[in-house]
Amino acid sequence: MIQFKSTRGDKNYVTASQAIVKGIAADGGLYVPDSVPVIDFPIEEITKYNYRELAYRVLRLILSDFTEEELRYCIDHAYDEKFDTELIAPLKEADGDNFLELFHGKTLAFKDMALSILPYLLKTSAKKNGVDKEIVILTATSGDTGKAALEGFADVDGTRIIVFFPVDGVSDVQKAQMVTQKGKNTCVAAIKGNFDDAQTAVKKLFTDKELAGELEEKGFVFSSANSINIGRLAPQIVYYFYAYAQLAKAGKIKIGDKINFTVPTGNFGNILAGYYAKLMGLPVDKLICASNDNKVLYDFFKSGTYDINREFILTASPSMDILISSNLERLLYHVSNDSEKTRELMNNLNKDGKYTFNEAKNKNIIGEYSSESESLAAIRSLYEKSGYIMDTHTAVAYASYKKYQQESGDNNINVIVSTASPYKFAKSVCSAIDDKYSSIDPFEALDILSTLQNADIPAPIKDIGSREVLHKSVIEREAIKDFVKGILK
Ligand SMILES: *Cc1c(COP(=O)(O)O)cnc(C)c1O
Repeated sequence: MIQFKSTRGDKNYVTASQAIVKGIAADGGLYVPDSVPVIDFPIEEITKYNYRELAYRVLRLILSDFTEEELRYCIDHAYDEKFDTELIAPLKEADGDNFLELFHGKTLAFKDMALSILPYLLKTSAKKNGVDKEIVILTATSGDTGKAALEGFADVDGTRIIVFFPVDGVSDVQKAQMVTQKGKNTCVAAIKGNFDDAQTAVKKLFTDKELAGELEEKGFVFSSANSINIGRLAPQIVYYFYAYAQLAKAGKIKIGDKINFTVPTGNFGNILAGYYAKLMGLPVDKLICASNDNKVLYDFFKSGTYDINREFILTASPSMDILISSNLERLLYHVSNDSEKTRELMNNLNKDGKYTFNEAKNKNIIGEYSSESESLAAIRSLYEKSGYIMDTHTAVAYASYKKYQQESGDNNINVIVSTASPYKFAKSVCSAIDDKYSSIDPFEALDILSTLQNADIPAPIKDIGSREVLHKSVIEREAIKDFVKGILK
């Protein structure tokens, strides 16, 4: 059975279900598997499985203390008609490039791939471990996690969900999706500051022993819906296998051929799942880590130095506007296999805002980036060539991949991991396609996009501009603890 331990050396091993309930280790580290399991089915078979079956085959290896019945229950309830396609995560081709569309769930972003199943995994985990307290999900969001978590946990018995988003750091559609959220156990507040401020404030609450004690007395326990939770990360491994299966089915590769993935990266959760897929035996050659103008990861993979002492830039791809990439800690741990070292690097990051670690270079993870203007130009050029419309995050990956390919001459088949529907960022996307849309109303942009694409506005956001605002709090980041206490009175 796979056990989980902290990246920072805490000696307490836990099971997968315990790691899911806790979210983050007591020493502030992230849970990692003590050894990464390798798939136990012949890779040729993956073309036969539908998404749910593949999810079961992969997840059972990592969430190894779940019974088959438990796991299948979680999977069957997650990947159902909530998704607007039977395929769940279809692979599309445009102008010769492959796009793995991960935005067919309820909130139109790839976060749905994990947050549709996390509430089921968490409830099952709580039951398995005799946790009888109400679980409070605390989440910092750069825009997409918040809504996906709210949608996943709304009105789930025995849970509360509290989401914090940076007041000026999300798109109009993202904000409208969150502040109109229904469900009596939901709470949303804007934080004055950027995403890093929100994430740091929330992480602090998790390790606040006094707060934990107070809440425990009142019958509450915290958990996390951010990708620091392995219950978020594990389901994301599945679609890397699924993309590979679709390429093989389409005859674009032979089973066994190595392929690349290009991933638009923020908190390093999505691409880390790709790294796990590779360790588990998926034939992956390169993982291309694409950044926007906040290119701290690009600099890290090039130079070995991770340095957040720089300007935080607000871009049209807000879900990637991040300087402190939480999940990179897991990569550091796996590459060094040394928790002392990982703790030391994280301490340096806390103290000086930087550290140097050269071993992550040459691991077949390639840092690339594309600037705001390069990414927006890519949306327009792909649209003009093929009619296919990418969102602003996918465009960062696409433009980064084109640069990488030109510089390296790498001819492996590549999959661009497509993380959001263009409708979530409709205004930026429309103005990238044509300047004349640069001052349109953000909700009018939905109609324009629908005309450009010759398709209907996706049902979940159809009337988003006219829904009632239910969550109006805007708080200082220092006030976050009192705010949470106030809600959990
Ligand atoms: C969250 C998000 C990302 C970044 O993913 P990470 O797992 O944080 O690296 C990229 N694109 C979109 C649309 C997102 O919502």
